[in-house]
Amino acid sequence: MGYVIDPPRQATLPIEGTEATFPIRRIYCIGRNYADHAIEMGHDPDREPPFFFQKNPDNVDVSGDFIYPPHTSDVHHEIEMIVALKSGGRNISLDDALSHVYGYGVGLDMTRRDLQGQMKKMGRPWEIGKAFEHSAPMGPLVPAEKIGHPDAGRVELKVNGDTRQTGDLNQMIWKVPEMINYLSEYYELAAGDLIMSGTPAGVAAVTKGDVMVGTVEGVGEISITVV
Ligand code: MN
Repeated sequence: MGYVIDPPRQATLPIEGTEATFPIRRIYCIGRNYADHAIEMGHDPDREPPFFFQKNPDNVDVSGDFIYPPHTSDVHHEIEMIVALKSGGRNISLDDALSHVYGYGVGLDMTRRDLQGQMKKMGRPWEIGKAFEHSAPMGPLVPAEKIGHPDAGRVELKVNGDTRQTGDLNQMIWKVPEMINYLSEYYELAAGDLIMSGTPAGVAAVTKGDVMVGTVEGVGEISITVV
C-alpha cells in the first residue's frame, strides 16, 4: 500500500566536508539563555527553570537567503549555536548527555517580534512569531569528532558589516548537557533532533537587502541575505 499523497520532503542539514546529510526530526529552541538577552527582553536573568519552544523541521533553510515573511514589520535576528543529536532517549543524565551529540552548527532563530509580543501579551503560543517558513536559516553541521564539544567561544552577528550581537558560549545560563538532560525529562529525544541554544544580547530588526554574517567560534560562519 502506498501513500495517498506524496510524502513530504525530509528536511536535512549538510555536513561540512561530506556529501552526506543530517535528517532533521524536531527542533527545540531555548528562550532567554544568555543573561544580557533576558535583560534586554525585560526579564530577570536569574536561573529560573529553562523553557523551550519548537520550530518545524521544514522551517530550516540552507539556501543562504532569508525570505522576509508576511504580516510583520519587525523581524529580528537571533544568532545561535545549533546542537544536533545522533541518539536520544528519556531521562538522560548530565554525565551521559554529550554522548548523544552528533555535532554543532550555526543558525539564526528569525523572529516576527511584533507578532511574538502580541501573543505574549495575550498569553497565547509563540508559533506565529517563531515557527514560520524560512525562519531557521542554518549552515552545515560540523561533527563533534572534529571539533569536540565547544563550551566557550565568541558568538557574533554582523549586519552589513556592523556588529549587532556579541557574546560567548560560556555565558549560557543552561549549558548543552543541562538542556539535553532537561528536555529528556519532558520529551523523548531522538536522533535527528536539533537544539537551538539561545542568543546573546543585541537582537534587532532586519530589512530586505541586509546581509547577516553570524559566527560561532570553533564551529563556523554563515552569511544570509534578506530577500
Ligand atoms: Mn532564540
